[in-house]
Amino acid sequence: MPDVAAILNNDNLSREDIIALLSSQQEDRNKLFARAAEIKTQFVGDIVYFRGLIEFSNICAKNCFYCGIRKDNRLANRYNLTDEEILNAARFAYDSNYGSVVLQGGELESPAFTARIERLLKGIKDISGGKLGITLSVGEQSPEVYRRWYEAGAHRYLLRIETSNPDLYYRIHPNDEKHSFERRIKALYDLREAGFQVGTGVMIGLPFQTTADLADDLIFMKDLDIDMCGMGPYIEHADTPLWEFRDRLLPLEERFNLALKMIAVLRIMMKDINIASATALQAIDPIGREKALKIGANIIMPNITPGAYRNDYKLYENKPCTDEEAADCKNCLEARVHMSGNKIGYDEWGDSPHFREKHPGSL
Ligand code: SAM
Ligand code: SF4
Repeated sequence: MPDVAAILNNDNLSREDIIALLSSQQEDRNKLFARAAEIKTQFVGDIVYFRGLIEFSNICAKNCFYCGIRKDNRLANRYNLTDEEILNAARFAYDSNYGSVVLQGGELESPAFTARIERLLKGIKDISGGKLGITLSVGEQSPEVYRRWYEAGAHRYLLRIETSNPDLYYRIHPNDEKHSFERRIKALYDLREAGFQVGTGVMIGLPFQTTADLADDLIFMKDLDIDMCGMGPYIEHADTPLWEFRDRLLPLEERFNLALKMIAVLRIMMKDINIASATALQAIDPIGREKALKIGANIIMPNITPGAYRNDYKLYENKPCTDEEAADCKNCLEARVHMSGNKIGYDEWGDSPHFREKHPGSL
């Protein structure tokens, strides 16, 4: 039996150590969580930053096998918010003193899409006098497009690698030029080159995924020297190809526990990065996101998409809060963050100390 207490006393975790921590149960798992919580308080403090999440469109040109809004899902009800609706949502975030917004949507590549995002970025900067921080999450684009969006005002970008194992990658994506593992990796480097704070992450509990894969995912993030991470449990969706493999999945509760352990181990490995508490955690456990805030996460993304559209951004079953409006979300989240023993960092961008350290001149 590996000695978890001894592993936790060591700052440099080997692949075997990581696997042991991800496999820990009960007492050992509690020790892991306690150590991660301690490191979080020491290196990023007890402040949780809000990123108002605007899921602006579910129109996507890709066909990831796990995702409910994949192109070939004819049952998805497609929508695309108007510019005005997006700017109103950003105004809500600004008026509510959220420091930042996230623009997330399906992946499209076209001059019109590039120009639209550019216009929206400038619009969001205008309505907030430059004060709202902006994270983008709209997939793989050319280096030139990333540069344009960075110049237009976005400064963080989330692009999950989904899994760092190329074989597994091609079991959960079609193997074609639109779904290239190499291109996704390259995009992460292009984002950094363009100036972005780079975030990545993976899904946890995928069919065919092993604990060693997950350990490799964490090592991948450390080697890439990411500034932020968003990772959460994989949750099956009936209208997707991966549904066929649902019998191979870990029970939801185990996927949830594994996701918490991934967050805790990453906090130990990368002490001063930003780690988001993923919405998918709440789809499994009503207080799942608060549990993640207690043991290592420091970012939460309240959904501020207008209520009428929320039900249609259905990546997986049981997506939480789809029947709420942004204001309900705000009240509920404030209470939940306090319940988790943290404070809210209003009106701040909340960049990771990790990024600030590398770029001393930044805000
Ligand atoms: N289209 C962009 C992209 O893929 O990078 C951004 C939007 S995409 C919906 C955001 C994330 O949702 C993906 O990176 C993926 O990890 C997650 N996701 C999609 N389907 C999921 C599922 N069934 N369970 C959990 N997460 C899922
Ligand atoms: Fe499209 Fe992103 Fe869903 Fe893949 S995960 S189908 S790129 S929205």
